[in-house]
Amino acid sequence: MDNDTLRENKTELPALAVLGSTGSIGTQTLDVARMHGYRITALSAHTNFKLAEEQAREFHPKTVCMTDETAYRELKTRLADTDITVTCGIDALCETAAAPCGMVINAVVGMVGLEPTLAALNARNRVGLANKETLVTGGELVKAAEKANGVDIVPIDSEHSAIFQSLMGNEHNKIEKIILTASGGPFFGYNKDMLRNVTMEQALHHPNWSMGRKITTDSATLMNKGLELIEAVRLFDVAPEQVEVVVHRQSILHSAVEYEDGAVIGQLGVPDMKIPIQFAITYPKRLPSCSKKLSLFDVGTMTFERADEETFVCLAEARKAIAKGGTAPTILNGANEAAVAAFLDGKIPFYRIGELVCECCAKLPHERTVTLDTIHAADSEARRRVNALITEK
Ligand code: NDP
Ligand code: MG
Repeated sequence: MDNDTLRENKTELPALAVLGSTGSIGTQTLDVARMHGYRITALSAHTNFKLAEEQAREFHPKTVCMTDETAYRELKTRLADTDITVTCGIDALCETAAAPCGMVINAVVGMVGLEPTLAALNARNRVGLANKETLVTGGELVKAAEKANGVDIVPIDSEHSAIFQSLMGNEHNKIEKIILTASGGPFFGYNKDMLRNVTMEQALHHPNWSMGRKITTDSATLMNKGLELIEAVRLFDVAPEQVEVVVHRQSILHSAVEYEDGAVIGQLGVPDMKIPIQFAITYPKRLPSCSKKLSLFDVGTMTFERADEETFVCLAEARKAIAKGGTAPTILNGANEAAVAAFLDGKIPFYRIGELVCECCAKLPHERTVTLDTIHAADSEARRRVNALITEK
């Protein structure tokens, strides 16, 4: 069945291609699919061939793409008794994203998600986008592809899903500002000195959300909020100054929009990613879900505070990057991906992530023109620079 037939066949349940199916968002997407009986047309993973095999046997996709070569070989052998096609590499991942389906859920981690997002949009597949690095690095290209192909991107990131929902029915009204909420992470209230002694275990222990290791680290440095600020600017076409970051420790108000008349419309709910994942798939409809319902009596108090951008320098650096524009956000993202990878490998302490990102952003000039080539060049240079700074020390 081609894309148009799939889209027009209203009785057909959504058929999903899940990129990054072995991760935190990927597995929760499959939980939602399992609950509602959605068909899975394709899966992708990087290294976790064992889980990819289990998922393939349960959901019977047409293809599974493993981007890591060794994992690909292992999975191909393991699925030899099935008619599932196993593919390998980034080109194959783009082909997976472009194959006909009802929606591509992009839940891979890192800038590697950009080209599959573009491939999906250019094939006129709707995209449920968790992969924020896509918008940080190639936001202009992605928005242009969305417009040119007349397909929707529905955000999965909880804050952006909340903003998206707060905008529904207000398409013609002017946004005064976006209130982007942040949990503050495990080190809220810490000063720079205190950050020097934190451990990886502490950094990976998020107070409200259970997520992959990269985004959990980004939440601890507040880079996650910096990336999300850029994501909001790209998705909702607002100026960076219109995005106000508010620390809300309870993660109940997932973000809000203020309109010209002073009305603020937000979305609330328990911190459970299955809610925005399911909404991205069912949009504009809503369906029953297995998530806990919110009890405001149990929440009791909701607090709102300013973020400390002097201590959490990554957020301030993200503001600078989006103000510069061009490939500056890609440099920020590439430096962060390299620094976080080094932290998770035990090569650098936590506080060095922010220092390395700032050093790299200060030293590397950015290009004004954003194309896939300039993005890749900026990304490689940022990673190279961070790795060189790590070895120099
Ligand atoms: P995880 O680390 O849990 O999962 C990442 C997925 O991507 C895995 O399936 C992994 O495969 C795959 N992957 C890793 N590296 C590559 C690569 N080089 N090429 C292709 N695939 C790769 O991440 P999360 O699920 O936490 O996050 C996914 C994205 O969603 C991120 O961009 C994150 O910022 C965003 N997000 C996540 C939220 C969450 O609650 N987790 C909330 C909001 C946004 P394998 O495991 O097989 O190696
Ligand atoms: Mg988020």
